[in-house]
Amino acid sequence: MNQTYRGRIAPSPTGFLHLGHARTFWVAQERARANGGVLILRNEDLDSTRFKMEFVTEMFEDLRWFGFEWSEGPDCGGEFAPYNQSERMEFYRAALEKLRAGNFIYPCTCSRKDIQAAVAAPHAENDAEPIYPGTCRQNRKSEIANRKFSWRFRVPDGETISFTDGNCGEQKFVAGKDFGDFIVWRGDDVPAYQLACAVDDAAMQITEVVRGADLLVSTARQILLYRALGLTPPDFFHCALMLDAKGERLAKRHDALSLRELRRQGATPESLRQSFFAQISSK
Ligand code: GLU
Repeated sequence: MNQTYRGRIAPSPTGFLHLGHARTFWVAQERARANGGVLILRNEDLDSTRFKMEFVTEMFEDLRWFGFEWSEGPDCGGEFAPYNQSERMEFYRAALEKLRAGNFIYPCTCSRKDIQAAVAAPHAENDAEPIYPGTCRQNRKSEIANRKFSWRFRVPDGETISFTDGNCGEQKFVAGKDFGDFIVWRGDDVPAYQLACAVDDAAMQITEVVRGADLLVSTARQILLYRALGLTPPDFFHCALMLDAKGERLAKRHDALSLRELRRQGATPESLRQSFFAQISSK
């Protein structure tokens, strides 16, 4: 491969970073280094309902303390700026327009509650999204009038989406069975993670996406977005999730394992890095 490796870390400032994030990001940094590449920091700050400015400041502080170094990011700029998603709306709008023009999406007026009520089908492990029952598939924009709606991607039912993951090997997910029609633009006029992430990874010319294994199914969704948008997907490397002592995956609610708290208790980045693969089990 003569293309420069471009990796990224893409935290969302919706809570304190915990050890699980640090481990995944560390793998991303190590892989960028081992491949003589660059690491990009993208601030995924689109979700203003959960986002707090203090989390952004603290996120940068925690990342630097831990030993992360990036060569492109909101603080240092770079060729593909801006690196705050909140400043990249024009990219997402252009992609939405393209999906609309290609008839890949439809306006959906279902609430989360409507969907939960209509859904009984099981869905892929590790992915909390219920399979959308297709209620609004035939909707036309003109019929929606003044109702609040989101834009939903119509998945090709029955098609197997496969990819080779750099860490987890061969992956196969069946559209309509393992995951259903998914939201690309929310009812509150915010681009959804799937769209923003795929658009940015392509625009920032990321060659390998390193992230948690909970996002394997999302990768299948994003591969469909790449295809619909005429973009080439990057390579993928999904890391095992970190589990706590009870075997539950770490989440931002695990304050005890936030980098902040660990640091306050006297942990050093070196000691935490050593503990990554030793003390806490992973799957
Ligand atoms: N902001 C997302 C998260 O924190 C990034 C996921 C990804 O790396 O694609 O979960």
